[in-house]
Amino acid sequence: MSAANDKEIGFIGLGRMGTPMAGRLIDAGYGLTVCDIDEKAVAALVARGAKKAASPKALAASVGTIFLSLPMPDVVVTVGLGAEGIAHGAKARIVVDLSTTGPRAEETLARGLKEKGIEVIDCPVSGGVAGASKGTLALMASGRRDCYDEVNPALACLGKLIYVGDKPGMAQTMKLINNMISVTALAITSETMVLGAKAGLDADTMIEVINAGSGRNSASVDKIPKFVLPRTFDFGFALGLSAKDIKLCLDECDAQGVPMIVGSAVRQLLTAAKAQFGAEADLTSMIKVVEGWAGVEVTGKAAGKKAG
Ligand code: NAD
Repeated sequence: MSAANDKEIGFIGLGRMGTPMAGRLIDAGYGLTVCDIDEKAVAALVARGAKKAASPKALAASVGTIFLSLPMPDVVVTVGLGAEGIAHGAKARIVVDLSTTGPRAEETLARGLKEKGIEVIDCPVSGGVAGASKGTLALMASGRRDCYDEVNPALACLGKLIYVGDKPGMAQTMKLINNMISVTALAITSETMVLGAKAGLDADTMIEVINAGSGRNSASVDKIPKFVLPRTFDFGFALGLSAKDIKLCLDECDAQGVPMIVGSAVRQLLTAAKAQFGAEADLTSMIKVVEGWAGVEVTGKAAGKKAG
């Protein structure tokens, strides 16, 4: 029996990303069984028709295909292989890990689950909370091709799928590369916007020029105009999770013997932001560190409107 055909899916991790992704699966007609340590997050999905499982093990005893959207690599490994983990549920066949877990932990998860006859499709996502809500995420997947084909229809509800290789861990490496580029763009755009503001340039005009020119990037198009200039800092990705991504990327550089000088500097800026604002603060708060050093704020016209 194909779990994709019977339209029953288990979903563990109902946070900023997991809740909208689970919601899209419900909207597409999938029957969901959900699990999270946050009872409120579970209740919100149960109110939309999902069933609740008491633990990953209980969930894996009732569903064949299980999606994960969990914060940290150690959590993913525990949810998979721990005493109350998926490995001990008799029905589980395919685990799709949508989290950013890093290649090493993903390989550990895949090895441990394979011993129980469970295959892992490594499938981290890019595109933020907005992409998760609209179904416009970029999903990069690696793992056994036949298992990938089986879960493809459900994953297609979440965004654009790209198959990157046949081993779990490969998609994680791809994801770390993407996120390093994205956070580096935010870091340098933040620093240069602070320079412009201090020199007397208007913030909205700077963004207009950058986006019409060769400096255009994902921060200048999206994060800075939508979440920094209005001073809302609510992009929806926690500094602590971004710091994890950057650490995992630099760990991989060490393991592969590849220098990453610019990436190491970006890590320092993230560490400063995390120390100042806490791991739960929004990633876009990073600019406030540079603003503090320079004694100037990067504020757009939209900030005035929101305040007024
Ligand atoms: P989040 O912290 O909002 O959500 C994580 C969820 O996992 C929470 O609901 C938490 O209660 C639950 N959880 C933690 N430990 C658990 C356990 N042992 N058992 C069951 N549930 C548990 O994180 P998020 O922003 O939704 O990110 C999820 C993953 O997606 C992360 O790996 C992140 O790096 C990645 N990601 C996030 C974004 C983004 O913009 N937020 C974008 C792309 C990828």
